[in-house]
Amino acid sequence: MPEMHFVVRWSDGNEQRCYSPSLVVREHLEVGKSYALSSFVERARTLLHVASDRVRAKFGTYCSSAMDQLAEIEAESKRHDAGSTVTVVRFEMPRPRRSVAVIGGGQAGLAMSHCLKERGVDHVVFEKNRVGHEWRERRWDSFCLVTPNWQCTLPGYPYSGPEPFGFMKKSDIVRYLEDYAASFAPPMFEGVSVTALRKRSDGAFELETTLGTCVADHVVVAVGGYQVPSIPRIAERIPADLVQIHSSEFRNAASLPPGGVLVVGTGQSGCQIAEDLHLTGRRVHLCVGSAPRTARRYRGKDVVEWLDAMGYYRMPVHEHPLQERVRGKANHYVTGRDGGRDIDLRKFAKEGMHLYGRLLCANDGVLEFNADLKQNLDNADAVSESIKRTVDKYIEGQGIDAPTEPSYVPVWQPSEGAGTLDLAKAGVTSVIWSTGYRADYRWIETPVFDGKGYPCHTRGITAVEGLHFIGLPWQYTWGSGRFSGVAEDARFLADRIYARIGKTHQLPETTLNELALGS
Ligand SMILES: Cc1cc2nc3c(=O)[nH]c(=O)nc-3n(C[C@H](O)[C@H](O)[C@H](O)COP(=O)(O)OP(=O)(O)OC[C@H]3O[C@@H](n4cnc5c(N)ncnc54)[C@H](O)[C@@H]3O)c2cc1C
Repeated sequence: MPEMHFVVRWSDGNEQRCYSPSLVVREHLEVGKSYALSSFVERARTLLHVASDRVRAKFGTYCSSAMDQLAEIEAESKRHDAGSTVTVVRFEMPRPRRSVAVIGGGQAGLAMSHCLKERGVDHVVFEKNRVGHEWRERRWDSFCLVTPNWQCTLPGYPYSGPEPFGFMKKSDIVRYLEDYAASFAPPMFEGVSVTALRKRSDGAFELETTLGTCVADHVVVAVGGYQVPSIPRIAERIPADLVQIHSSEFRNAASLPPGGVLVVGTGQSGCQIAEDLHLTGRRVHLCVGSAPRTARRYRGKDVVEWLDAMGYYRMPVHEHPLQERVRGKANHYVTGRDGGRDIDLRKFAKEGMHLYGRLLCANDGVLEFNADLKQNLDNADAVSESIKRTVDKYIEGQGIDAPTEPSYVPVWQPSEGAGTLDLAKAGVTSVIWSTGYRADYRWIETPVFDGKGYPCHTRGITAVEGLHFIGLPWQYTWGSGRFSGVAEDARFLADRIYARIGKTHQLPETTLNELALGS
């Protein structure tokens, strides 16, 4: 719950630096804007009362500094002509110099903050939205984790709910993150975006934020591996009367117009959204890509438990057979819905879902597909079966007494040929592009990226001293970009940063301000 300052210029050219115990200033004043004197005073009155109320709501006592500030503004306003204006010059954050700045307050940024705080390292977290934003705003209503709850092992806050082998629903995930943040009160500015990051000649980093400039000796970028929704340009060739959305915008079947739905892509999102629509009785057309699948359970356990026992989740990226190429691989599709089960697209087809190969082109509302549906389904099954064979070997090698299971037998086969889809004739009224995300690091003005714009790093450490990343898929292990592995990465980076800067003692009053004042 951070405080801030705002600098205003009165009609005589004098600038005044004003205090607010909350970021609420930004809802009432705009940098660069001039306000009629009376309007400015009214706004200042409102925002400082709101800020003070927030302090009272949290700590039981009004903020006397906010009221003192208001009295100063009111007194100053009396010295100026009633027809004059007041200009908001800039916003300033308190203590704009920090040892570490963490950019992003999702699970990775929070994990990082927790580990830095544990080590007594002075830092700040900037979060563009709110804690839990990605899960709250960019997942569909019936979303569940695909990974079991026991894999949620954020530092200092492992899942402790009643269903370790269950899969948290969207609202539970948001609450888990909110409760996590509340458990250790990270020094976080919510609603503050970092718009530029550059290295200064003295070695420190300069962060331009929507709350002013901040300087930090170390930076940890925690902005997620799934940043900007990616939609292929073939979307421009879909008739304009169809509704088109990205999977991150899908909420539920009822929010789509009546009629058939085309889902493009069979990564985890595409498969789960197709199932969600299918279960509501929608006519679903699904373009099947090359993503692999895995069985949910095998020989008496969740496959994740077997893989965990086999040490798969501890394998560092450089020991993986694909090495760093594994970072670009699609996730295996499976679901945590209703306690967890397989996703078998053949079963959906048997029940009436229309499956196609990869989308090739669109002409006058008629779609053409690659003739790769059979191959894509076969490959997904083959991967699933090969995971089972690996589990078999492990069970055998360890002499574990586990029930046996027959191999998977395909329940449906596609007909030969590629097929076409006339959208109008099939009654398709909406398209959901489940075609993934891309990164956008253009705001980072340091040369740490490869030809594809991916940050070059080893365990999150870049060649630019002091610049780190966390939360990237397979950053170090399978779980780096998930709930399960981010703790290990956060501890590793926090240890490294701590070793470089040591413990930074904060001024007691600053600590008090950050922890005790309202937002
Ligand atoms: C559809 C889907 C399903 C998933 N399912 C699972 C699952 O079942 N289990 C699992 O463990 N993982 C899952 N993941 C992977 C992973 O857990 C999530 O992607 C998770 O959100 C990653 O957390 P993060 O903190 O790294 O990034 P995010 O949650 O993306 O957080 C990044 C934060 O940074 C903020 N930000 C971005 N840019 C800036 C900026 N310039 N300045 C300030 N703030 C900024 C954003 O507002 C955001 O809050 C899933 C991912 C997706 C996309």
